[in-house]
Amino acid sequence: SMASPALLMRVVASAYSVAEKAAAIVRNVMAAGDLGIVEKTGANDLQTKADRLAQMSICASLARKFPKVTIIGEEELSTDEVTEELIEDGHCEEILKSTCPSQYAGIKEEELVIWVDPLDGTKEYTEGLLDHVTVLIGIAYGGKAIAGVINQPYYNYQAGADAVLGRTIWGVLGVGAFGFQLTEAPAGKHIIITTRSHSSTLVNDCISALNPDSVIRVGGAGNKIIQLIEGKASAYVFASPGCKKWDTCAPEAILHAVGGKITDIHGNSFQYNKEVKHMNSAGVLATLRNYDYYASRIPNTVKQSLVP
Ligand code: AMP
Ligand code: MG
Ligand code: MG
Repeated sequence: SMASPALLMRVVASAYSVAEKAAAIVRNVMAAGDLGIVEKTGANDLQTKADRLAQMSICASLARKFPKVTIIGEEELSTDEVTEELIEDGHCEEILKSTCPSQYAGIKEEELVIWVDPLDGTKEYTEGLLDHVTVLIGIAYGGKAIAGVINQPYYNYQAGADAVLGRTIWGVLGVGAFGFQLTEAPAGKHIIITTRSHSSTLVNDCISALNPDSVIRVGGAGNKIIQLIEGKASAYVFASPGCKKWDTCAPEAILHAVGGKITDIHGNSFQYNKEVKHMNSAGVLATLRNYDYYASRIPNTVKQSLVP
């Protein structure tokens, strides 16, 4: 008889459907019109009803199927009972049928850590910049991001009523990444993509030192990685603390699955074991190609200002 699919592929297949459910929640909260905005550390660090409901749905759904997996979500939520309507039980059949890389075939539930950002780009969500928003589910093993799902709930929302709204991108190291068209950025151009709502003098000084041809300022870590793999930008540069492990885990797995690279501003790789500090204190540097070009041009003064 056929061996049952490896745990990792079952988790990714479920995360795909769970992210689609979360995306529907994100759209429904916006459509209903009451965002229920709460400030966390300040006016640029917000939580809405969509962040809360999407996280409850994602974490409860995955915990029910994979009870021994560690799941770490961005939002601190009261331990309210999760209503049954928030539970997603489905999975993506195509992912389940994909072959698990041999080095991951024996992974046990206790060895996985799932990092959940239920709504990345909340500030932009509250301002109606809806295509900046993503749902991020990152899967780590041995401290490394090895698989991820990025759902973009409002993909195509400016393309008219006939366009299919939303998409789901998934990837596993050693398998690849799917649900988008891998595209190279314009050759010989240095297009930097960075934060829209969390800028600082250091963030801007670092970008200036790279002598960019153009700078794209948009919300969301997930959104910026999508723009790298679709050739809209050549480097994601964020010389500041603020980004957390749930922002980078799923994007890292997908970027690495297609041969890209993401590190802090010093070139240190990120760790995703459950004990790790959440904050990416030394910023973010990510590219699909030519990582060394950008890494070698980060000024020492910028590096000295950002302690890992
Ligand atoms: P951004 O590029 O500004 O959308 O940031 C990417 C991710 O990091 C988002 O989840 C932000 O909420 C988070 N982030 C970045 N900087 C900060 C900050 N100063 N305070 C709170 N969250 C931040
Ligand atoms: Mg986020
Ligand atoms: Mg978030």
